[in-house]
Amino acid sequence: MSETFVEVVLDRSLARPLDYAVPAHLLLHVKVGARVEVPLKNVLKQGTISAIKHSSEFLKVRPIARLLLPEATLSPALWKLADWMSHYYAAPLQKVLKCFFPPNVRKGVKQKQLQRIALAVPKEEALLHVVKNGPQTKLIEALAAAKEPLPLAELLTTLQISRSPVETLAKKKIVLIEAVPIADLSEEEFFQTRPKSLNKEQEECLAKIISSLESKQFASHLIHGVTGSGKTEVYMQAIQAALEQNRSAILLVPEIALTSQTIERLRARFQQKIAVLHHKKSLGERTAAWDDLLKNEAQIVVGARSAIFAPAQNLGLIIIDEEHDGSYKQSDEAPCYHGRDVAVMRAHLEKAVVVLGSATPSLESYANAKKGKYILSTLSSRATSAPMPKVQIVDMKTACDKAGGFTHFSEELIEALRQRVEVGEQALLFLNRRGYRRQQMCGGCRHVLKCPHCDLALTYHLSSNILSCHLCNYQRETPRECPSCRSSESLEFKGFGTEHVERSLHALFPSIRTLRMDRDTTQQKNSHEELFMQFRAHKADVLIGTQMIAKGFHFPSATLVGVLNADTALNIPDFRSGEQVFQLLTQVAGRAGRSELPGEVIIQTYIPDHPILALAAAQDYNSFYASEIEERKLFSYPPFCRLIKILFSGEDAAATERLAQSTCSKIQELKPEGAEILPVLPSGHPKIKDLYRFQFIIKSINPRVLESIFPSIPASTPEILVKIDVDPLNTFF
Ligand SMILES: [Zn+2]
Ligand SMILES: [Zn+2]
Repeated sequence: MSETFVEVVLDRSLARPLDYAVPAHLLLHVKVGARVEVPLKNVLKQGTISAIKHSSEFLKVRPIARLLLPEATLSPALWKLADWMSHYYAAPLQKVLKCFFPPNVRKGVKQKQLQRIALAVPKEEALLHVVKNGPQTKLIEALAAAKEPLPLAELLTTLQISRSPVETLAKKKIVLIEAVPIADLSEEEFFQTRPKSLNKEQEECLAKIISSLESKQFASHLIHGVTGSGKTEVYMQAIQAALEQNRSAILLVPEIALTSQTIERLRARFQQKIAVLHHKKSLGERTAAWDDLLKNEAQIVVGARSAIFAPAQNLGLIIIDEEHDGSYKQSDEAPCYHGRDVAVMRAHLEKAVVVLGSATPSLESYANAKKGKYILSTLSSRATSAPMPKVQIVDMKTACDKAGGFTHFSEELIEALRQRVEVGEQALLFLNRRGYRRQQMCGGCRHVLKCPHCDLALTYHLSSNILSCHLCNYQRETPRECPSCRSSESLEFKGFGTEHVERSLHALFPSIRTLRMDRDTTQQKNSHEELFMQFRAHKADVLIGTQMIAKGFHFPSATLVGVLNADTALNIPDFRSGEQVFQLLTQVAGRAGRSELPGEVIIQTYIPDHPILALAAAQDYNSFYASEIEERKLFSYPPFCRLIKILFSGEDAAATERLAQSTCSKIQELKPEGAEILPVLPSGHPKIKDLYRFQFIIKSINPRVLESIFPSIPASTPEILVKIDVDPLNTFF
């Protein structure tokens, strides 16, 4: 009888897979994609079976110790997807596999409990026991503000604090941590809604998707629908069609904050269990959702990027809402995958239908539709009778001249705001910078106060009266004197953020009610939802926010959108800047006048003649696409070539740059055909968290060539991290 061996990829080792023998009692259970525990030297390690074979080149092969959760085995299609990702994104298989299992399932635990935390003593008393302004203070304040116990894992993520300060508080009996079985948490009930009637364009679009679903073959669709054109209703009826075939559906949304809005709609329509997967959910909740999917007790998945790995059974449909959104790309760690591209590959492997939707499709997706690779549907009119908003561009140079100095608000915007407030309508004001003042500098010696760990100026926050680094969260008090020349009179602030806008607005309209939505005001759990509900309930006249407010939120009585400074992103030297600004402005403008009331948009800028602004003002995607694609062709950028960005970061600037340089020369010597290797440069953020960053870009018209380059890229060491970013979102940062 021939023996059976398996190759196992260990979770924490970058070396190649190791061989193990399969003991007789496990013979029927070993499968590629199964989780196992195996001996390595004197300890047990966890890993995933990557191959099954009947011989091993090694003489002494130790047996597998045990099988972890047999039901956690990846399906053959998901295993192929992991394998594809590992090759395509040049990422070690074990890092890719990490995406496919919730953390405790990986460890073989199927605990489906939710830990919740609450204050055990009054807030004032609790605060006596902790260091002022430390992480524990943040925690106590969040708990005091909540009316009921909060899920612990989620709270730690939002507050960005570790577990140990919380455990210290629990030991001192200042907070109480309780574990509740997830099944005991009641789900809210929603009154059932019926499918809405569709207009002709929506109907045609849905018919095409249903026909693909009926063919049981892979197909990809792109819905280009103007803001407010009723894409969501098409998604819901497509999901209905998949469910009728007894197939499951995954719906990805770009922002976790949007999931609750989406889940509410889906629950009301389908009255069934919905698996919600994103990293803010507790481990127990994620495991429960994952388990429901495996047992086919849930057939609808909603989540952010990582939900694309959900083990949905008999998958029929994947929908990527706002497919152009940058949050679908994982950029901070390997694998640097794009959720949309993984979705297309998964649909291909599972013979499912993938639907990408956007008012401003990415150039890549639209080019695919033009080439006939994607089936294109256009929704050109709004689903309600609401007309598209009227957009006006205002020159801020003139506005500031008229005001006799800097102002956030042009006369046009002030007048429009006044009218709205008078008739009881609402306005959104958009500025892509949070905080009060952008930086503090010395007028005498021009010294700028920077983060000691990053190459970035510190932003001043008025509410907390601190300077803070927006890259690493470092905080300090404002100095009394210039740290460089010791002058105590010449420190001044430059630039403005959302906090300042809010104050200035109150100075202009003393009785105006405002809400602010940016990373500072949305730290706590559900704060997005709460701000959103308050604004919808008309508890404020104006909502001021960063790009958060541009994403998919629906505010029925907001009829005015003011973009305070449209220029910031246009100054970033990246091939995608124009596209990103066009997308952002169109999306923000799309928030205006979604119901019966007509909308108005005012875009303020110092470069009023910029062509992108005119195209965004006209909401003319087709002209934008035509001009942008010409430029990409001319300068050879995606979709006309593929890019890889290789980033080196290390504490020793010289050594890091040397490794970048030598890698770059090594690849140049290979003379890869059809590829261009750009020189090594410091990254747009040259230093983050004490690590110096250098990078170079490889451009190639031949995707095969890129794979031949991968072996020349060194692996990360403890001293220097090497990150390979295939299809990077930007080439500058
Ligand atoms: Zn100075
Ligand atoms: Zn910093």
